[in-house]
Amino acid sequence: MNKIFQNSQPTSDLSKFEGLALEEAIDLLKAYMFQKRRATFLHDGVRVYFDPRTKEVFLFDHRAKRAKLEYSELKQWAICLQCGAKGFVEGDEPRFMNDTTCAACASIEPQTRRTSKRLLSHQKRKA
Ligand SMILES: [Zn+2]
Repeated sequence: MNKIFQNSQPTSDLSKFEGLALEEAIDLLKAYMFQKRRATFLHDGVRVYFDPRTKEVFLFDHRAKRAKLEYSELKQWAICLQCGAKGFVEGDEPRFMNDTTCAACASIEPQTRRTSKRLLSHQKRKA
């Protein structure tokens, strides 16, 4: 059976972490141990996840906030709901306005409810 098709969803099952993902998870947990107080965007229910599709390792809390390491610093990681871009919310080169809208999408048109809905449905049709 094809392993990739079996395990295409992000998982918190450590036995499913491939390659160097476990090492990344260790670094992530170490950073969480030392930077927990500063990582105020993370709340309860924090788990470490591995995405077999993108090979990404990240922390994920019960409010769906994500965190990844940027140069061994724990930072909020976001996925734009409109274009699917990924990036750090704060950083040397901020690409995100908040954890759901990237800077590019925010600059194209004002964030009205109608716009977001239209773009989201457009994205769904494409997928
Ligand atoms: Zn975007």
